[in-house]
Formats: sequence, structure tokens, C-alpha cells
Amino acid sequence: MVFKTIIEPFRIKAVEPIRRTTRAEREAALQAAGYNLFALKAEDVLIDLLTDSGTGAMSSEQWAGMMRGDESYAGARSFYRFEAAVKEITGFAHVIPTHQGRAAERILAAVLLKPGDIVPNNTHFDTTRANIEAVGAIALDLPIAEGRQPGLLHPFKGNIDLAALARTLEENPGQVPLVIVTVTNNSGGGQPVSMANLRAASALCRRHGVPLFLDSCRYAENAYFIKLREEGYAAKTPLEIARELFSYADGATMSAKKDGLANIGGFLALNDEALAQQAKVQLILTEGFPTYGGLAGYDLEALAVGLKEALDEDYLRYRLRSVEYLGEKLTAAGVPIVQPPGGHAIYLDAQAMLPHIPPHEYPAWALSLVLYLAGGVRSVEIGSVMFGLQPDGSEQPAAMELVRLAFPRRVYTQSHVDYLAEVLIYVHSLRERIRGVHIIEAPAVLRHFSARLAPAHGSLLAEVQGT
Ligand SMILES: *Cc1c(COP(=O)(O)O)cnc(C)c1O
Repeated sequence: MVFKTIIEPFRIKAVEPIRRTTRAEREAALQAAGYNLFALKAEDVLIDLLTDSGTGAMSSEQWAGMMRGDESYAGARSFYRFEAAVKEITGFAHVIPTHQGRAAERILAAVLLKPGDIVPNNTHFDTTRANIEAVGAIALDLPIAEGRQPGLLHPFKGNIDLAALARTLEENPGQVPLVIVTVTNNSGGGQPVSMANLRAASALCRRHGVPLFLDSCRYAENAYFIKLREEGYAAKTPLEIARELFSYADGATMSAKKDGLANIGGFLALNDEALAQQAKVQLILTEGFPTYGGLAGYDLEALAVGLKEALDEDYLRYRLRSVEYLGEKLTAAGVPIVQPPGGHAIYLDAQAMLPHIPPHEYPAWALSLVLYLAGGVRSVEIGSVMFGLQPDGSEQPAAMELVRLAFPRRVYTQSHVDYLAEVLIYVHSLRERIRGVHIIEAPAVLRHFSARLAPAHGSLLAEVQGT
């Protein structure tokens, strides 16, 4: 190619205005929300990077598909289109639709786990961990050592620690009913897993007779990282790479609100016939009949199209580049982030930026509040509010204090990213004035969604000395 500018590979057919607010309005909104960004009204947010989950823009083909949706209770045409798309990409024999990823996780936990069991993962996502702990089993994070060092460059920081996995399997015979590998590793910085790592993890699991499942929310982004970074994959298509990824697993859970490019949906796909039957019993209990699983026919159509659009190379090039573009601007300005930039998000390293805030005053949470206050940007804390509360009720600092800025798919353009960079660099310049927060009240499970907090020292920002 002669030209090097990577453009948004689409034009915009429908627009949705976003609303500017004043700083005083944002201050009041934060207070009303109990200093929890989940409790804000979305219309009070200018750039919403809370999550890339279900927040993407659908294509004209997906909207057209929605009009073709077959709303039959059983055996709908839309289910078979969805099933064919999932089978083409994953190769799994049984495809069970669910309303989103965590429903697939809950079903898998119900059919495979008992109290005391151990489930290793490169890093469990919050809902995966919660579903495992809800049945009394233990969610064990085994990322490679490089994965826990935010500033360190490594092409596949999402890899699972193979030696630790081997040890866990050897030392706990009969107590590890499954191993999960999350692609890309969301809680660990949106970092990819290499094909070599997955192949080796798969061989270990097979040697021990333990099934391997992929948490495959971002299978397309992971496939494209492999194409860019792993030897032997440059000439392969993302679909070919994705198929090879899934071939090393016995099943997968998926939140199709990510690389399904849809606003809702998910699935559990697997090869074991008996296990699939048990999963369908669970599905009927809480989700719905196996040919719709809690989704409308039109959702299944949107997914059938979206799962394939996510594998388009122009789209993936633009997708990864928009995140990297923000990462480059921040790195040039000295803002500490998880390196290299992930596939769906930039993760600010709040521990490095705010060393004066102790973990029990939640530095990453405080930083996320100031980003909103300064620029109307909504992000999410991935730190000690999200992961600090242990199942026994004790409090332990999270491995990392991160603020995730997740990019909705096909929603924001380069000027939005330029604005973001400005806000982030400005907030970085205020870093010494940022102060901690404390928790006023919180539920015992997934507390970050509904906790109420407050500034620990009267305000989020210390007054400037001498003014
Ligand atoms: C989003 C996500 C889930 C849960 O999916 P939902 O659709 O939000 O229920 C599980 N694992 C990972 C890695 C995710 O990113």
C-alpha cells in the first residue's frame, strides 16, 4: 500500500448526539452517583469508555438481518444461521445461545464444578470469577510473570504460565474439572495469548484428561495480534487463525457483545454431547429454549453477521490501530499505561501515576473519577475495588491498580481519540493533587457495580498551594 494512514473503514449512516456538561454539573452528578461511575446517567457522559461490551455500532448488514429475524419459539431460521456462523468459526459440535457471556459461564459452572474445585485461567474476568466462586470453587489466576508488570513490553502478555498450570494439574488430581484461557486477557490489560502458548496449554490439559475452554469474547482481536506478531501467521486470514485457536479447546464461552459486534448475546459451544445435554437443561431453567437461549430471533441474526464482520482485516487493522494511536500519544507524554496497548482498551497504571495513594484508598478508582470530572470521560476501575474483596470477606490489594478505557466498536472517530488524549494528559499533569476515596457501603459480590464511595480527604483534588 502507498498510503500509510489507517482510516475508519466505514462511513456513518446514523448519528447520535453526545452532550457536553459543565464541570459543576459533573461534580453534582458524581455526588449523586455515590462516586461510582456505574451509577451515572449515560447522557451526562461525553465520551463513554466504561466498556466495549454491547456498546458497538451495528452495520447496515446487521440491521438488515434484524428485519429477517425469525421469532419462532422453536427451530427458528435465525437460530440455524447463528449456529452455522458459530460452527464455521469455532468448529464445535454443539452451540447453545445465551443472553450474554455470564449466562454461559453460570451454566458451565453449574454442570462442571463442585465446592473446593480449582479452575485455573490466565486471568479470570470478574463475572467468570464470581460464577466459579458462587458454586464454592476456587478461581486461580496464572498469568505469566510479564503479565503482572504493566510497563514491560512483551508480544503475548496474555499467556498462561505453563509451568504453574502443569504444577496445578499435577498437585490437584481430580480437583481441576476445567482450565480456561481468556482471549484476549481482559483483566490483564487486553493482552493477547499466542498460538504456541495455547497449543502447549491444550497439550497439558489433554495429558491430564482435563477439558480446556476458551473465554473467547475477543477471539478476533486475539487472532489478528497473532497474525501481526507470531511467526508463521502473517499470510493466514483471521478466520483461519481463529479456527486454529478454537481447535485446541474442547469448548468456549463467549460474550458476543464484544467480538460478536452485537448489543446483546453470547453462547456456550462445546464438543462433549453429554455435557451439552446437561447444559441445555440448565439453559431451559433460566435462559430459554435451546434454539433461542434468552435472545430474540433478530439478535441471533445480528450475531450471525457480526461474528463474521469481526474477522474482516480492514476492520481489525483499524480497531487495533485506534487503541494503539491513543497509547502512542500517552506514552509520548509520559502517562504510564499497560504496555503494549491492548486490543480493545488502554489501561492506565494508577499505581505508577499515583504512588502517594495507598491501595486501601483505591488509586485507580480515584483516577477514574477525576477523568470524568475533568473531561466527561467515563472509564472503569480494574483494581482493588473490583478485585480486592476476598470470598472470606477479607480485603487484599489487587495485583494491579488499573483504569481501563475500553473502546466501543465502530463508534468513535480519530478526533474523539485526540480529545481523549488531551484530557488524559491534562489529568496526568494534576496527578500530585489527586486524592484517595473510601467505600461507604458495598454488597459482598461484584461490589464495584453498586458500591457507594466518597473522597477520603474531603475532595478528589487537593487545593493548589498558595491560591
Ligand atoms: C465481558 C466478558 C465476560 C462476560 O460477558 P457478559 O456478556 O458481560 O456477561 C466474560 N469474560 C470476559 C473476558 C469478558 O470480557
